[in-house]
Amino acid sequence: MPDGIATSDAVYKTLLESTRAIPWKIDWQSMTFAYIGPQIEALLGWSQSSWVGVNDWAERMHPDDREAVVNFCVSQSQAGTDHEADYRALTASGEYVWIRDVVHVVRNAAGEVEALIGFMFDISERKQAEQRLADLQKQLEEYSYKDGLTGVANRRMFDRVLEVEWASAQRSLQPLSLILLDIDYFKQYNDHYGHIQGDDCLKSVGQALGMAASRPRDFVGRFGGEEFVLILPETDAAAAAQVAERCRRLVREQGIQHARSQVAPLLTVSLGVGSIVPTASAQALDFVAAVDKLLYRAKEGGRNRFEAAQWDAHTADVAELALR
Ligand code: GH3
Ligand code: MG
Ligand code: MG
Repeated sequence: MPDGIATSDAVYKTLLESTRAIPWKIDWQSMTFAYIGPQIEALLGWSQSSWVGVNDWAERMHPDDREAVVNFCVSQSQAGTDHEADYRALTASGEYVWIRDVVHVVRNAAGEVEALIGFMFDISERKQAEQRLADLQKQLEEYSYKDGLTGVANRRMFDRVLEVEWASAQRSLQPLSLILLDIDYFKQYNDHYGHIQGDDCLKSVGQALGMAASRPRDFVGRFGGEEFVLILPETDAAAAAQVAERCRRLVREQGIQHARSQVAPLLTVSLGVGSIVPTASAQALDFVAAVDKLLYRAKEGGRNRFEAAQWDAHTADVAELALR
């Protein structure tokens, strides 16, 4: 019934042109648009008649998406495979809208590709939600590896980084240095100035240490309480001693008054500095324990100073040193 066909054509047309998805058809031979829904103008601002060839589609795509998306769609179409692609489409006013293009490949009786038909969906909102989620996720990761008070890395991050750097030093046979730093008479500082000012003091020390360690792989973290830690990869004992001295100087240069300190009128720190070329069997935790011993010695030796030692395969075993 020809009338019926005409009626259903009109119904289909109305349906197609009133949906939020934008229908289109490309003739494969000529690579031109046989049809594109009028809704395209409301979404992107380009008139329906401005969509002539596939170039109009490719050129109105974000340059960062263009090559990959065009190559993907062409190869899928050549292979006769239905596919979908997400990309940013340029609007007439120069902005970008995230589009998902869902493509069906139409073949003729001989099985050759004849046309592509598809729908474009506006997925901007979904993409924005995805981006917000990714941002939140990143922030969460940052928070879970950051010390909330001082902004330097936390203990958890230290454990992870030490594990990685220890293994790397074992492979490369490069020296690894570790500095443990403890604020002198900090209990008295808190007693005298109060905990709030004590917290500010910890922030200042964290900042000073950030400046003391300048190489890209250097790590600064809060070890706990008023103790900080630095991991210095590919750094020998001489260089580590220089960093330790810089830590001491930068903390002093913060000029934090400490009326109750028994070593100086300003806030000072004591440091343990260890350097090691770890053997394959050496344990990172023994190294940390050995450096902690050095820090203790610096305290005993009068504070406001550092105590250093180095180990390699030819000197005493680090596990044994940690026990002494
Ligand atoms: P020493 O010179 O031997 O290191 O003496 P000290 O007083 O620094 O050492 P002690 O370990 O006895 O005291 C550490 C103090 O650090 C105790 C605690 O009140 C303070 N502290 C630890 N964590 C925090 C913190 O997050 N905020 C503040 N304000 N104080 C802290
Ligand atoms: Mg302490
Ligand atoms: Mg202390």
